[in-house]
Amino acid sequence: MAQTTKLIFWGVRGSTPTLERDTWRYGGNTPCLELTAPDGARFILDCGTGLRMLGNEWLKARHDAGIEARVLVTHYHWDHIQGIPFFHPFFDARNRFHFYSFQSQDLGPNSLRQVLEAQLAKPYFPIDVSTMSAEREFHEIAGGEKWEVKGTKVTAAWLNHPQGCLGYRLDTAAGSVVYATDNEPGAAEFDANLRQLASGADVLIYDAQYSPEQLSSTRKGWGHSSWLEGTKIARQVKARNLILFHHDPDSPDQKVDQFLSAARQEFPATWAATEGMSITLSERGVDVALRGSRIGQRRRLRFTAVVSGQSEDGQTFQEKATVRDLSLQGAYLCLKSRPRLQSEVRVVIEAAGDKDRSSMLSLRGTVIHCDPGREQSQNGVGVVFIEEPDQSLPTD
Ligand SMILES: [Zn+2]
Ligand SMILES: [Zn+2]
Repeated sequence: MAQTTKLIFWGVRGSTPTLERDTWRYGGNTPCLELTAPDGARFILDCGTGLRMLGNEWLKARHDAGIEARVLVTHYHWDHIQGIPFFHPFFDARNRFHFYSFQSQDLGPNSLRQVLEAQLAKPYFPIDVSTMSAEREFHEIAGGEKWEVKGTKVTAAWLNHPQGCLGYRLDTAAGSVVYATDNEPGAAEFDANLRQLASGADVLIYDAQYSPEQLSSTRKGWGHSSWLEGTKIARQVKARNLILFHHDPDSPDQKVDQFLSAARQEFPATWAATEGMSITLSERGVDVALRGSRIGQRRRLRFTAVVSGQSEDGQTFQEKATVRDLSLQGAYLCLKSRPRLQSEVRVVIEAAGDKDRSSMLSLRGTVIHCDPGREQSQNGVGVVFIEEPDQSLPTD
């Protein structure tokens, strides 16, 4: 059987969860990633609010024999621990968790255990930590440490962040993933740590909270980084893919779009972390997929539209395509071109009204899905529209 490693993003937002409608496309939950190694070993990277959804997913999958997982916590800021009380598998005695984190200068020995006890305590939470019935084991680690979990090598490195933060590298049998969030560049020792940690990584997940301008002015010293810094590191260490992560709570989707497209000019294999995004690593390389967005009523149809955008090889295209379904949120198109995931497309639909009128609908969208060959020599392309159509009024 083919060896694959699967990584799923359950939370990608930095600092605090967001609910504003203009942050829905990338997502509002704070950091939490799930990695499953080829031998089945499970890892959770950070316990932000995204952790709740992962727990619900495991509940649905009914792991009757119990689950064993390694939980790697980068640091103790709220956005990285806030999901802990809401993760159902922690309250099931059949499950077993191995926690890894560092000794905080403020908390002393058993830092993570203390964090759990403080979080699940009056008056902050209605029940206390004794109800957390899963078996728990705590490992205190530090930057520079390496250990093995079945067939996966884990490495930790200190990053530059207020009160400390660890970056993690997981070398699995199907490829390597580096999770380096909450890091500010510019301190030689930490810059060197990060480059060593990320060297040759198949997937580098990196803090891209601010614009380069913010990072050098108003947000200097806040402990975060920018897309530009991410692209520099990715190039220097010869990473194969860069994932912009820890989006600012005040960055609407269109701001993240701008960061992504600017980053792609510097380092083409860049993606913006999106809630529900999954990355599969195998001998065929790295495959990125986004969760389908299926909000709103869909209407099955078949009509033509002119679609323009950028294909996977970086060329621009324009072609007549078949629209297969449409809602006000998005559309499913059949195209000969293979537009790039997370790239912008324009869909222009011309509908003949009565003889003397025609209406034109021009919609800007972003590609969230592309599957080859559903129809012969055509690609099935999912698009989410990203702003209100500006030319939706009938043109007389
Ligand atoms: Zn954070
Ligand atoms: Zn932090």
